[in-house]
Amino acid sequence: MTEQFPSYRGQMEYVCLGCGARYPIDELLYTCPSCGGVFLLEDTTFETLKDHDGGYWRTLFDERASTRNTALRGIFRFYELMAPVLEQEDILYLGEGNTPIVDGAPELQKFLGVSFAFKNDGQNPSASFKDRGMACAYSYLRALVRKHGWDEVLTICASTGDTSAAAALYGAYVGHPIKTAVLLPEGKVTPQQLSQPLGSGATVLEIPGVFDDCMKVVELLAERYRVALLNSKNSWRILGQESYAYEVAQWFNWDLSGKALFVPVGNAGNITAVMSGLIKLHRLGIISELPRLFGVQSEHADPVWRYYSTPASMRKYEPVQVRPSVAQAAMIGNPVSFPRVRTLVDVYESAGGTFGVVQVTEQEIMDATIAANRHGHIACTQGGECLAGLIRARELGLIASDEKAVLDSTAHALKFIGFQNMYFTNTFPQEYEITPDAALANTPVSVMSAAEKAQLSAEEFTGRAAKAVADRLKLAGK
Ligand SMILES: *Cc1c(COP(=O)(O)O)cnc(C)c1O
Ligand SMILES: [Zn+2]
Repeated sequence: MTEQFPSYRGQMEYVCLGCGARYPIDELLYTCPSCGGVFLLEDTTFETLKDHDGGYWRTLFDERASTRNTALRGIFRFYELMAPVLEQEDILYLGEGNTPIVDGAPELQKFLGVSFAFKNDGQNPSASFKDRGMACAYSYLRALVRKHGWDEVLTICASTGDTSAAAALYGAYVGHPIKTAVLLPEGKVTPQQLSQPLGSGATVLEIPGVFDDCMKVVELLAERYRVALLNSKNSWRILGQESYAYEVAQWFNWDLSGKALFVPVGNAGNITAVMSGLIKLHRLGIISELPRLFGVQSEHADPVWRYYSTPASMRKYEPVQVRPSVAQAAMIGNPVSFPRVRTLVDVYESAGGTFGVVQVTEQEIMDATIAANRHGHIACTQGGECLAGLIRARELGLIASDEKAVLDSTAHALKFIGFQNMYFTNTFPQEYEITPDAALANTPVSVMSAAEKAQLSAEEFTGRAAKAVADRLKLAGK
């Protein structure tokens, strides 16, 4: 079915979480001009969506799941809840969203004594969930370009790797008048992640230091120069990432009772988006119960965990100095979306949801990642961090035995394969504090040397190699 593009248009505004000021969306704003606070985007006509009941929306979104209209096929299936100011012609679709939810392998679930599934957001076009946000941010940017007739737009972002991969991919697809530059902490993104913006033709600039250093630089650039900032300070990205929550709810037939969602927390944009999405579903009666929501952080980058593990009356937010983490995409000491989290947690909890943050060690993250992938999953280290978080939550008695956990595997395993190599070859630098389980080391085994092969005829070679393989595998003859 080629569905008609919806006629509903909302009225969106930037709302400052610092001072409450509101600004129109005809400009790309990142932070409040008056107080410097971060924004969330709000549809001021959202309440009119309540003219329809939850069942109406559930049916509509279920019907759209089979549409061939590409503007509604990906994350914009949930158009009315996300960015209902965009026109069909502005909407970009590169195949993002609609990522599979794969049940934990039976053996692994049994071994861990918990029921869980991974949502494989690494199966997005640039192999991470960042594509959800970029699809929305670039769609909005296209709307701005169309309206203003701009003939040159430079997008820029700081990145732990995946934001730049996504920004460069979507920028390359849109083409003129968009050009993309990315700022990376030198040596702190994986070779696979680095190859992505290079391959998409973006200008790649490296800065010594960690992500937090790059973030300060792009913020200053966004303040002083004409650039379009694509970090998650850009609230349009948050909107796009809400689609993750909508898809989880839809997959479970709009029933999230007894579910616990685990999300790795770095800059805290993703957890903000997931929470915001769930709140909207609940407000419209599309889901009747909010799931339990857990952020997960490594003890090497844990400012959000520190905040929420302190008794409410004594909480004080303080950035931390990060230490090397295998959950490198979440290795952030001063998350820019922390004020968003704090605001939304209050709303979430007053609507009956529960929110918590668990902290895990680097060892636990790596062990969980390896365990998942040895059971047929494709978890990145942040996905492994979620599994480690689930195990921790279970130990702490935060998860009931009849609950089902949905773990966000935010990127594809292949992006972080260097950490797997370090695990298998026991070559982690000291700072990671990881001792591999030697029994799990898996390395290629040579069947025959090239020199030996050179001595053999083609026939002898095949026979000798087959024999060596059979010996190695202890094959029985027939
Ligand atoms: C960006 C990223 C994160 C962290 O998400 P935030 O929105 O920064 O909290 C986690 N995992 C992967 C793979 C990422 O790319
Ligand atoms: Zn403000």
